[in-house]
Amino acid sequence: MAILPILTAPHPVLSAQARKVEDSEFGAELQTLCEDMAETMYDAPGVGLAAPQIGDGRRVIVIDSGETPGSGLLHLCNPEIVERSKETITWAETCLSVPDLEVKVSRHKRVRLTWRSPLGEPKEQVFENFEAVIVQHEIDHLLGTVLLDRVSRFRRSRYLQQLKKRERAAAMA
Ligand SMILES: [Zn+2]
Repeated sequence: MAILPILTAPHPVLSAQARKVEDSEFGAELQTLCEDMAETMYDAPGVGLAAPQIGDGRRVIVIDSGETPGSGLLHLCNPEIVERSKETITWAETCLSVPDLEVKVSRHKRVRLTWRSPLGEPKEQVFENFEAVIVQHEIDHLLGTVLLDRVSRFRRSRYLQQLKKRERAAAMA
């Protein structure tokens, strides 16, 4: 297992659309990638992580909103939302790839997902409330969308300016 560096916005991999995991890619190697992603997520700490955040442009996410690390862990390859509730839920979301930014986002309160395990088994489950928020946030990453894309142009440029200032300060330190 390994803790991987998490990319931060703006980064081209974070803005790119992830590609599907191909049939030939399921297996032990993908299982290891998911385990490394989970370890990276717990270390951060976070409740979800998408492969583009560690520089892998494939449709893979890990989530865990359980009380203790590991209790709610899911590895989702090629996740697809196949049903969405009309009812929505608004959450103040944060993202490991956009530090120090909190954005209120309205999401579907319930979503049904299909996906495959890293070993290729087909899976299906309904996610509700906070878990529904997490899977929708992570699937956004697979579409190349990060929280920074959901704020006003003014807030975005202010965030990027502050980021530059911090980088300059760090370079001088
Ligand atoms: Zn995120």
